[in-house]
Amino acid sequence: MGRLAGNRVQLVQVCNVFGDGIYLPLAAGMLRAHAVSQPDLAAHYTFPPIVCERFDLADTARYVVEPAIVGLSTYVWSWQYSLALARRLRALYPAVVIVLGGPQVPDDARALVASGACDVAVHGEGEQTFVELLRALRDGAPLDRVPGVTAKDGAGPPLRAPARPRLDDLDALASPFLGGDFDAVLAGRYRAIGLWETNRGCPFSCTFCYWGSAVGEKVRVFGWERLMAELAWFEAHRFDYVLCADANFGIKRRDLDLARAVAQAKRRSGFPRKFRIFSTKNTSERVMDVVDVLTAEGLDQGLSLTMQSLSESALTAIGRRNIKLATYVELAEKARARGMSSYSDLIVGLPGETYDSFLDGLDTLMSLGQHDNVHVYVCTLLVGSEMSEPAYRERHGIVTARSPIIERHMRADALPAGGIQEYEDVVVATATMPLEQWIETNVATVLVNLLHYQKVAPALALYLHAAHGVRYRRWYEWVKAHADAGTRAPLLGDAARYARAFYRSIAAGSTERLVLPEFGDVVWPVEEAVFLRLCRDFEALAAELRALALALADEDGLPLHRRLLEELSTFELARLPSPGGPRHATLELEHDWLAWLEAALAGRPARLERRRVRFSVVDQHGDTRTLSDYARQVAWYARSAADIPYRLLRVETAPRLEAAP
Ligand code: SF4
Repeated sequence: MGRLAGNRVQLVQVCNVFGDGIYLPLAAGMLRAHAVSQPDLAAHYTFPPIVCERFDLADTARYVVEPAIVGLSTYVWSWQYSLALARRLRALYPAVVIVLGGPQVPDDARALVASGACDVAVHGEGEQTFVELLRALRDGAPLDRVPGVTAKDGAGPPLRAPARPRLDDLDALASPFLGGDFDAVLAGRYRAIGLWETNRGCPFSCTFCYWGSAVGEKVRVFGWERLMAELAWFEAHRFDYVLCADANFGIKRRDLDLARAVAQAKRRSGFPRKFRIFSTKNTSERVMDVVDVLTAEGLDQGLSLTMQSLSESALTAIGRRNIKLATYVELAEKARARGMSSYSDLIVGLPGETYDSFLDGLDTLMSLGQHDNVHVYVCTLLVGSEMSEPAYRERHGIVTARSPIIERHMRADALPAGGIQEYEDVVVATATMPLEQWIETNVATVLVNLLHYQKVAPALALYLHAAHGVRYRRWYEWVKAHADAGTRAPLLGDAARYARAFYRSIAAGSTERLVLPEFGDVVWPVEEAVFLRLCRDFEALAAELRALALALADEDGLPLHRRLLEELSTFELARLPSPGGPRHATLELEHDWLAWLEAALAGRPARLERRRVRFSVVDQHGDTRTLSDYARQVAWYARSAADIPYRLLRVETAPRLEAAP
């Protein structure tokens, strides 16, 4: 490598903007902090503030000034932009040395380097490698001898240096929080969203995952004192939201103490207001205690009972073993007893999964009492994951669509004009789930999500199940079938068509950006867009659902009482937030549906008692007078906190009359 064009080392990690917030560029911060902490490098180089916003590339010279070296930290959501920025930098500053790192760097990066996209590609953990690269560049030493890189030095082809072993002592790395590496982000125009790492590594090996290439690895931890100082930093800078990036929070005994420390910080100062974790796959009592501590301070959004799939063949194909269903039930019951909400994750499109097995899995979760929340994701191929290897793809008939990445809740205009789109490879068909079934599985999931988990009509499904033995799957497929037939259920039909068009757009590689201008400047996930498109028609939607329930009763010979059904529907509608606030301030019923629903949700025998009850309807969502406030408060915030329905407060209860039929 020739002489460096100066001494400025610029780190870049572009992050998406969510609402008015932007995540801290943690990877770039770690690189910068470690480099700056080396006295010889600090004396030789200067390190301008990290660039983390996507800017218009025409303005590159304003954001990246006369760099000698640029380090770009990349992932799937910043890869295309980073490559384009590298090209632009090369044109502006021909002598610049470009270093690409992050999980998106392929294992074999020789073609990438040979193409001129970068001078050096860094594999795996980058801090030590980057520091050694800076020294090699300063000293004019060969780059392709630095462990952990692929580099081209001189006229020959790019060479891959030996791999770098993982760093055992994470405290050998300086803290970017404490070293001021994020000061410029804090002073920027967006609210900073906290990102925190208390350990690295994951002992599991799910085939779809590439957790910083650290899957199947022992978990290494940052020291306690350092973490407490970083927590104080989040507190002092009044962070609203801190996302803990650990892959398995709760896996270490000390994680409970960490949760307690975060809760204490919030009690002391009010910050951070929210602390979100990814709890460990094999949920244990300790995880429940962690969530308990966080929930008590309003910090987290409930207990994660992660599954990804309930199909044995899918679990085998992805190399994963879930907790036993009996354990799931036990943990879910304990969570309910502690007043904790819980949620489960499922992925559509895993190899080995079918339309039937997926809907059966959802049905099982509901039957086991999962009525709080189920998050459903599509399956994507991550660079470096086992699932992305050609032999694995071939074995499982994996078909992908290269689809634009649309981050949920990002600002509608988050890309600059003429901006650069990022892409991901979405699995849209497998040997066991052909494309049409993939689409229909997703459509069914959206309808379930709308009605059950966005709380449009969960009590109806629970009632049909508890009082008449109707499987959840039966009810929701009945709804879907009528939505598709387009006769009895035009609103649901419209919802199904909208969802289907969205998934077809993914399969065609042109994922639609779901922006509903009247609901604000936000890109909505499809299930929330469906909810919002219907929110002014909830009464008509309730009428459709009543008609479908009666039709199902006819078909299956169920003794469903029309008046009870109507009252149940009135009850659900009274709890369902509408734009502008509750439809009525009070609600009078002939049956105590609230007591019934609470018992059903708690998994207790639910008996519907006939007694006159009066409730006041309490709106906990704040100001929802405009449609965009409603969308933000209800479809976005309340949904993610699994707290959509209005609260009903019992103001009067008459003596019991008789049991309901
Ligand atoms: S999905 Fe989670 S548990 Fe599985 S390998 Fe990745 S980080 Fe580990």
